Amino acid sequence: MLQIKDLHVIYKTDQETVMAVNGISLDLSPRETLGLVGETGAGKTTTALSILKLLPDKIGLVKKGEIIFNGENLLDMKDTDMRSIRGRKISMIFQDPMSSLNPIMTVGDQIEEVIESHKSDTMTKADVDNKVDEMFHLVGIPAKRKNEYPHQFSGGMKQRVVIAMALSCDPELLIADEPTTALDVTIQAQVLMMMNELKEKLNTSMILISHDLGVIAQTCDKVAIMYAGEIIESGTIEDIYTGDRHHPYTVGLFGSIPKLDEETDRLSPIDGMMPDPTNLPEGCKFHPRCPNCMEVCRTRQPEYYVKNTHGIKCFLFEREE
Ligand code: SF4
Repeated sequence: MLQIKDLHVIYKTDQETVMAVNGISLDLSPRETLGLVGETGAGKTTTALSILKLLPDKIGLVKKGEIIFNGENLLDMKDTDMRSIRGRKISMIFQDPMSSLNPIMTVGDQIEEVIESHKSDTMTKADVDNKVDEMFHLVGIPAKRKNEYPHQFSGGMKQRVVIAMALSCDPELLIADEPTTALDVTIQAQVLMMMNELKEKLNTSMILISHDLGVIAQTCDKVAIMYAGEIIESGTIEDIYTGDRHHPYTVGLFGSIPKLDEETDRLSPIDGMMPDPTNLPEGCKFHPRCPNCMEVCRTRQPEYYVKNTHGIKCFLFEREE
């Protein structure tokens, strides 16, 4: 249903050009969930905003590539046509629920407004009212609370309202950008479980953006790991979470997670920092931080070597292609 081909996105100001996404390709089938993982600045959110054509006006520019959704290249669509895609066919949940909710409007009115703006041609007022109640029921909030304002809800409940808004027009694709990061750990688990159940019930495909490998493991069918605007490893959950054949950056990401069953009081974080996106290194973009760096890595970009469902962008896997 969604295919991204060789996408390049920059942010251009008078002073500098940020190379935010540098040639990523991925695909998503109906009802599948893809996890996009990486540190801050890896290009995850820029990829999501590009799908919805919500990059900052005049600054965010798609330089190259295609985003094919149900056979149509979204990048060729006029803004008026994109309005019928956003919310109705592709919805997005942002990290901070407060930034998505209007503080001076009741939560019920906000969900109603979303449904009316996209489906007023096919639904009567009574249908819309019923749909609002149904969405509250689906996300586990009593419908009688629909006349309350966002400040009367806890963080987890607010995020449930945002999820109800995002799913209220039965989108085919839901993009969730760090949807549980602002919530405490127990509420995170509840919200994630609820999102999974709703996705199954409503047959929605999902792109889940997260820096948390635990969240991805609980939720996704496949994973793409991003670094400096590129996908450096991708595969099924089994490809990424099992076996010993991994990109050195992925090895570093897993080494940064505390393990309860190992007797060690130290983590092994990845040395160094994500490169400056206005001045990316030559060759492999991970080479300044890579413990396996070879001479060739400093000057040449590795290809994306694919074996079955598992792809890795690293010279260490060149001969296994
Ligand atoms: Fe490390 Fe070289 Fe592989 Fe890059 S290509 S991850 S520098 S070994």
